[in-house]
Amino acid sequence: MNKPLILIVEDDPPIRNLISVALETHDYRFLSASNGGTAIMEASSHNPDIMLLDLGLPDLDGVEVIRKIRSWSNLPIIVISARSDDSDKIEALDAGADDYLIKPFSVDELLARLRVTIRRLNQMQSDSQETSVFINGPLRIDYSAGCAFLSEKELHLTPIEYKLLCVLARNCGKVLTHKFITQQVWGTAWENNVASLRVFMATLRKKLETSQEGQAFIQTHVGIGYRMIRAGNAVDLNDH
Ligand code: CA
Repeated sequence: MNKPLILIVEDDPPIRNLISVALETHDYRFLSASNGGTAIMEASSHNPDIMLLDLGLPDLDGVEVIRKIRSWSNLPIIVISARSDDSDKIEALDAGADDYLIKPFSVDELLARLRVTIRRLNQMQSDSQETSVFINGPLRIDYSAGCAFLSEKELHLTPIEYKLLCVLARNCGKVLTHKFITQQVWGTAWENNVASLRVFMATLRKKLETSQEGQAFIQTHVGIGYRMIRAGNAVDLNDH
């Protein structure tokens, strides 16, 4: 992807300016919107690669903007908000946000998250040409055969562990909430399933961690959910 186009949605001019300058300095193209209505319009008419979204907007709530955009687009959305409660993060992620940054934020961290998102977009483009196999460092999932390998050794997974691994892999790089994962794995999102999820996640991790390289694959977001890390992103992710 050359020169990604970023849509900045922020009603606070100094913050909008700070982000614009950072993007310009790092050779991104950008557009900006100061309210939700304009954001949705800009997203549909300019087809940006990534949206940076403030939640406290004068007209629509940012979460509403995410829901509206998700009805027609998979555009990656990184929320940048002063709302720091887990419940706010979960609401935004469940509505379809890809990542969440809390204000005040560091520009370096924002740039790191953008790089991760762009790498994921590029990977998704190449994955879509080869949808039957997923490769992430030493991990390989053969979707058509229904098996997974770590450093070419087959992982002996239970059906639930395998399903769990596939959900994480299909959304690699994205923070997934407990609710999203349990819905994908069990088709429902009961409280009981969150407890089961922890148990299955622990056994899955144990199997992945038999190899040194397998260790860092699954990142825990306490109180929120999990994310599979794209191998090679270690440098970016250590920034925050
Ligand atoms: Ca605001």
